[in-house]
Amino acid sequence: MTSGREAPVRSGEPDEPLAIIGGGVGGLTAALALQRFGFRVTVFEQAHQLREIGAGVTITPNAMHALDFLGVGPRVVDASGPAPRYAVCDTDGRILELGPPTEEILPAFGAAYVNARRADLHAALVDAILARDPDCVRLNHRFEHLEQDAEGVDLRFGNGERIRAGAVIGCDGGASRVRSVVFGREEVAYTGQTAFRALVPASAVPAEIIATPYRLYVGRGRTLIHYEVRRGELMNLLGIVLEPNWQAEGWSIPAEPAEFLDQFADFPAPVRKLIHAVPPGSLYKWGLRDRDPLDTWTSGRVATLGDAAHPFLPFLGQGACIAIEDGLVLGRALAATPDLEQGFARYEAARKQRANGLQLASREQARHHQGVAGDRPGPGNTAAARGLFSYNPATVPI
Ligand SMILES: Cc1cc2nc3c(=O)[nH]c(=O)nc-3n(C[C@H](O)[C@H](O)[C@H](O)COP(=O)(O)OP(=O)(O)OC[C@H]3O[C@@H](n4cnc5c(N)ncnc54)[C@H](O)[C@@H]3O)c2cc1C
Repeated sequence: MTSGREAPVRSGEPDEPLAIIGGGVGGLTAALALQRFGFRVTVFEQAHQLREIGAGVTITPNAMHALDFLGVGPRVVDASGPAPRYAVCDTDGRILELGPPTEEILPAFGAAYVNARRADLHAALVDAILARDPDCVRLNHRFEHLEQDAEGVDLRFGNGERIRAGAVIGCDGGASRVRSVVFGREEVAYTGQTAFRALVPASAVPAEIIATPYRLYVGRGRTLIHYEVRRGELMNLLGIVLEPNWQAEGWSIPAEPAEFLDQFADFPAPVRKLIHAVPPGSLYKWGLRDRDPLDTWTSGRVATLGDAAHPFLPFLGQGACIAIEDGLVLGRALAATPDLEQGFARYEAARKQRANGLQLASREQARHHQGVAGDRPGPGNTAAARGLFSYNPATVPI
């Protein structure tokens, strides 16, 4: 097998691109990285529109290195502004841990730390890949099945289309169908945790929250985080509760502020005011689901990436960052080898320990935050405390 650079992966036909399944943050970063190294890629996304739901995402320096390398970092930083110093607090508002001071981030790590609106990150990546190839994204393509042989991969989509690709990168998220088809069906289990999320316009945010905009509260059976996105235009709010019974599917199930408030009635007054301030119709909830990390990420001409390989719970704030890291390292690994199989092997070897380990650490972090690990709720071992920001996917040996 040869890799897809210049003369793309050889198969029956000379010009078959690499197929990326899923246009989320991982798939788009992988697409941009592969383009950057001279590969031709096509992204197949199930949605009818390329857009991200309105919520926030923390981009720490480790992932920002990749965005900088790919040329989209400055736009994301510009849209977001630098993240203020965070504090982890208990339900009495006592500070348990402080993050690194904002002004020390760039000198210490060589890249910025921002809290981005997901849509801004997504738009920066989409614009960059379309600028390189305006035809490289196919919407309304829900991947259903694949079969591979020694020369290529046949793919089938829900809209009836069939295509042949030189290789496939499964970036289709935590319930990845690529993963199920290639590595065997395995249930995506509800974790017993339900999340509420909202974006609150700055004009409605209580002054006490504006004064300390980046806080993570830990409490028995609950966590709540708020931070500004878009340079303070909006306050991102996310609360997570233990909820044993959850039936509904989907990311955007409308929720009532009263229901959210009930769960956080013993949290500090500014937090309750912030929940009160959520505009009608803009609160959503969903059940967090989980799968074990994959022991093997690649099989022949198919690789998995991001949540498809290692679905992250949100408690370390690193799932998107790790998917971004994966995307760049995959591009570097394929560019460094003349052979696709070797490239996939180098990608997996470079990434698996970090990503799979952090997926499991993220689960454990929930238990610390919510006081179900036997201790009082606490900061656990945060991404900063673990030294995760020092990793640079643009220079790490592969
Ligand atoms: C509440 C919450 C908060 C979070 N906060 C943070 C944070 O602050 N920082 C951070 O780094 N991470 C955070 N994460 C984790 C992060 O969101 C994920 O780890 C990240 O989105 C994974 O990216 P991905 O591209 O692998 O998958 P996704 O973002 O899930 O993208 C998958 C894409 O594949 C598409 N797709 C799915 N199935 C198919 C199919 N069959 N055919 C075609 N397309 C398909 C989907 O439509 C989607 O576009 C958070 C997660 C949650 C739940």
